Amino acid sequence: MNHDIQIARAAQLEDIGQIASRLGLSEDDLERYGKYKAKLPLRLIRREGPQGKLILVTAISPTPAGEGKTTVSIGLSQGLNHLGRKVAVVLREPSLGPVFGIKGGAAGGGQSQVLPMEDINLHFTGDFSAIEKAHNLLAALIDNNLQSKSRSLGIDPRTVLWKRVMDMNDRALRHTVIGLGGTGGGMPRESGFDITAASEIMAILCLSESLSGLKERLGNIFVGFTFDKKPVYARDLHAQGAMAALLRDAIKPNLVQAIEGVPAIIHGGPFANIAQGTNSVLATRMGLSLADYVVTEAGFGADLGAEKFLDIKCQSAGLAPDAAVLVATIRALKYHGGVALPDLGQPNPEAVANGLPNLEKHLDNLRGFGLNAVVALNRFGADTEAEIQVVAEACRKYGVRFAISEAWGKGGNGAAGLAEQVLAAANEGSHFKPLYEWETPLKSKIERIAQRIYGAEGVVYSKRAERDLKRAERLGLSDLPICMAKTQKSLSDDPSLIGRPTGFDIHIREVEIAAGAGFIIPISGDIMRMPGLPATPSAEQIDINEEGEITGLF
Ligand code: ADP
Ligand code: MG
Repeated sequence: MNHDIQIARAAQLEDIGQIASRLGLSEDDLERYGKYKAKLPLRLIRREGPQGKLILVTAISPTPAGEGKTTVSIGLSQGLNHLGRKVAVVLREPSLGPVFGIKGGAAGGGQSQVLPMEDINLHFTGDFSAIEKAHNLLAALIDNNLQSKSRSLGIDPRTVLWKRVMDMNDRALRHTVIGLGGTGGGMPRESGFDITAASEIMAILCLSESLSGLKERLGNIFVGFTFDKKPVYARDLHAQGAMAALLRDAIKPNLVQAIEGVPAIIHGGPFANIAQGTNSVLATRMGLSLADYVVTEAGFGADLGAEKFLDIKCQSAGLAPDAAVLVATIRALKYHGGVALPDLGQPNPEAVANGLPNLEKHLDNLRGFGLNAVVALNRFGADTEAEIQVVAEACRKYGVRFAISEAWGKGGNGAAGLAEQVLAAANEGSHFKPLYEWETPLKSKIERIAQRIYGAEGVVYSKRAERDLKRAERLGLSDLPICMAKTQKSLSDDPSLIGRPTGFDIHIREVEIAAGAGFIIPISGDIMRMPGLPATPSAEQIDINEEGEITGLF
């Protein structure tokens, strides 16, 4: 079997000008980064007039391996292209953390990949570096203010939660002490590093619609309190102008291609736990302006990714999907049917049937949002006909469209059936209605998500969470949407509860605020903002030869 990078290298890359012409763009419209990558200027976004149809790809609760949302998103765009439609796939940029860690890149797989995969997985057009710089500039301005006598804002250093960021899995930087070295070395205080994808700047960039909107959100970043308990924001440090200047190019979406020459717009990469987990609003708008069909992905399972996509991103930007694709795999269904991870390769149609309630709950949720859904079974080599029939039959019973995706092995040809079903669903259309109005009180919003989406009985708040919520209210942030941080492994907050659990509560340990991005983050369980490398990191396999060819990426 070919590795992804071998398939990627064998693929015939077209000049990016050729790809752009498929979207009706000329050479003049592109800001080139070499032969195969280009930035798309924001003036190409059409705010009025006809727009493409938006297709959201999401998934059932996944196994740790990932169920193939990115692969199916790319495959579906290849399938639509195969049927002669003008299509763009719009995705997140990969973080270097997983590339050198355990999961590998995030550029799809098999015959459904975006290219050039080496570039996309490593540095790409430098957006992550720019975000890192903007984030760390604010950190430096905060510490500089702590040092200053004449211009001190009186910030209490113990209330400053703004850390520094770096795009690397590096657990040794999680907790640090900074400002050592005497009076000239700053104010000693506890701090640390997060990975760049977890930066609030990433979330902000991905929700902004213009440079002025970006500046406003940057200025709204909450820094901490003064010793007199007054809130301090980034704007009080006059940080937003310089931060936005660093992001001048990063705010522009990137154009590349998928195998088979399909235009791919890749932009932004916020975490799916403490942030919205989906590409930038500007990239989505760019796609909708330039193509008739836009396929996009939301991270994690539908309880997290799709909910945030719909209640945060769509509400914030006035977007509405025309159809949703729910990716399911036989192995994940078996997992929810009670099979242990090492045994998922064994044929077991009964276990598949036992796992269906998880799929059914996610479907109910998508229907609750008013979305027309298609179930896409992402086919793996070990899947048997009998197992697949169990899912097909169940979908008939639920009255939902069903298709098998073989895009991983066959590219667009393997997703033509899925593309036909998605076209039918998108042409029928959807009637998107959000789960809640933003003006609803914070606790009611949290409870609505827990009960309606997760199927919980109720929500239990720790004392700390109660305090945090009161603080958010005091700061006038009650009308912000909710960005839940919960395990993706279960519909509940307990990763061991598989299938469609009932009779559980959601436990909120603490509540963070992202006043700049514009959401409130209730946290259940442990949230990792700076992952570590595994015992055998993928980095050890990655190499480059004298010709500059990179090996070992996947
Ligand atoms: P997600 O976006 O849901 O996290 P990805 O699309 O990134 O998932 O896929 C996770 C991994 O599984 C990738 O390495 C991908 O190549 C692989 N994969 C996806 N679909 C298939 C398939 N049908 N057969 C074999 N491997 C697959
Ligand atoms: Mg993905």
